[in-house]
Amino acid sequence: MSRATCDARLPSITNSSNRYRMKDKPNIVVVGTGGTIAGRGTSAVDTSAYACSVLAIDEILSAIPEASSLANLSAEQLLQSGSENFNEQHLLMIGKRVSEVLKDDTVDGVILTHGTDTIEETAYFLHLTLKSVKPVVVVGSMRPPSAMSSDASLNLYDAIAVAIHPSSHGKGTLVVANEEIHSARDVTKTNSFKLEAFRSPYGALGYVTQGKPRYYRTPSRDHTVSTPWSIDDIEALPKVDVVYAYGALESELVRAIAADASGLVFAGTGNGNIAEHMVEPLREATRRGLHVVRASRTGSGVVIRNGAQPDDDYDWIVVDDQPPQKARILLMLAMLGNPDERRALQAAFYRF
Ligand code: GLU
Repeated sequence: MSRATCDARLPSITNSSNRYRMKDKPNIVVVGTGGTIAGRGTSAVDTSAYACSVLAIDEILSAIPEASSLANLSAEQLLQSGSENFNEQHLLMIGKRVSEVLKDDTVDGVILTHGTDTIEETAYFLHLTLKSVKPVVVVGSMRPPSAMSSDASLNLYDAIAVAIHPSSHGKGTLVVANEEIHSARDVTKTNSFKLEAFRSPYGALGYVTQGKPRYYRTPSRDHTVSTPWSIDDIEALPKVDVVYAYGALESELVRAIAADASGLVFAGTGNGNIAEHMVEPLREATRRGLHVVRASRTGSGVVIRNGAQPDDDYDWIVVDDQPPQKARILLMLAMLGNPDERRALQAAFYRF
């Protein structure tokens, strides 16, 4: 079947229902942005082929009446789009809206429903820019609500259970999937269709089961209130691109991308290796002011500074352990305060 067009324009908020003043249960705001959790197939066997971003957030919530026993829920539709369409404007729009909601003293936590494809980037952006200790949980699903054994309802129910619990305070932005609670810093999507798609290299922070979170770890890197970036003050983000390395990658491609960007995350082979014919074009771009960050296309591990390349000599930066797509988010933010200071940019990769 054909997928519905995912409309990624920036609409105004279409539905902001009443906030709750009675405090019988925690007050949670659920902000909808689309994705598979808002998808619908033509039959229950459509687990991977379906129209995405068609169900309104109210419809999704009404499918889980059990959720209202946990919290007073207020829903609003911010976007209705597959997350593969999200660019910097979408990140800023989502961040500013979540920040605004968090400032309401009657609100105890926020849930953002989101497509799973780039959930890790949006969640990491929120993790680094929100100035609140209230729980923010980003949640999606791998199967639409209409599919057999859909994870949509349980993931959303679990997200609410996590958002209302005092133990979720101060842990930064969280991603809930498949009965696990992940830190936004660490989590990545590692499978294109399985329910068990989300992994953190050092393990999840905890589990959520039977409507209760159980934490076993806390994030060790700075986030939210401990970062220098507040979403309320960011109006634009610098242009940072990602280049994925392969043996026959031509230097012209890198030159063209570098001409138009302020930063470049180079997803090198292995330990951030860079082919010989690519070194000079990248050095040339560095001399012209482009920030080059060496990452790895392997999907895990640390890129060692001055390991595969002499970063001190070339004035390059390494990602530490961040995958290219999340390194891009961090570099955009780090450049806001230190647009030309490469040592400060490198320090950001070891701090956050
Ligand atoms: N287009 C979807 C997205 O928004 C597909 C993935 C999903 O939500 O699971 O990322």
